[in-house]
Amino acid sequence: MRHVLILGGTTEGRTLAAELAPTAHRVTSSLAGRVAQPRLPAGEVRIGGFGGPEGLADWLRDERVDAVVDATHPFAAGISRNAALAAAATGVPLLVLRRPGFTRVDGDRWIPVPSLAAAAAELLPRRGERVFLTIGRQGLAAFAHLDGVHVLARSVDPPEPPLPPSCEILLDRGPFTVQGEEALLREHRIDVLVTKDSGGSATAAKLTAARGLRLPVIIVERPPVPQDVPVVPDVPGALHWLEQPR
Ligand code: NAP
Repeated sequence: MRHVLILGGTTEGRTLAAELAPTAHRVTSSLAGRVAQPRLPAGEVRIGGFGGPEGLADWLRDERVDAVVDATHPFAAGISRNAALAAAATGVPLLVLRRPGFTRVDGDRWIPVPSLAAAAAELLPRRGERVFLTIGRQGLAAFAHLDGVHVLARSVDPPEPPLPPSCEILLDRGPFTVQGEEALLREHRIDVLVTKDSGGSATAAKLTAARGLRLPVIIVERPPVPQDVPVVPDVPGALHWLEQPR
């Protein structure tokens, strides 16, 4: 029986676990423990950090892991870096499962920026007074100095302080519909949307809604995937990689 570790916290991680759990593999999904009530994947689940790349390498050896699939969120760069280091140290094969980013289409008014700090700087030169921030519960500190704008921030769990001085919190979890997103943008009289290029269908509706309303979208670009690690865009690709003899 092969032991597969899925570094999860994403829809893709859960889908992969559901596909593998009924097979002859032993499947362990690892979650960071950031969300109070996570949707638990099928198979075994462990929660919490490993203690850096060394801790993860120890875990791979102790638990006799045969393969690791890094199915973490495209912006979870720390754990992806750790996984690459731990895989190199132990020789355990590693695959990155990373969904493609959002696709820009005609009518989109996107302003790509390299970081949350750059997104905040973009807001300063009068993009509008009412901002919809969908960057998750971490990272609002980058916007904490912004006065003169009203921020509507949406996340699954309450965001970490510090928060912008004028900030309204909306606790909600996708998937969201275009109709619902349009209604939200209108109701809160949003001038500009700030989001990360997370990709995936569960949260793409806000971009369609923003396009329909001709709103600018400040979109934070993804950090790069660690070098020399194979990458697939979807769960079938990961299943195919796991089937290969090595
Ligand atoms: P990060 O900055 O890349 O990781 C920080 C530390 O958290 C890691 O060094 C590791 O601690 C621990 N960690 C992260 N993911 C882990 C996992 N799956 N299992 C065990 N430990 C993990 O991560 P993040 O951006 O805070 O994201 C945390 C988790 O939330 C990820 O698993 C990700 O898939 C999910 N998520 C993130 C975002 C986002 O926008 N960043 C959005 C949705 C979901 P140790 O060094 O102690 O091992």
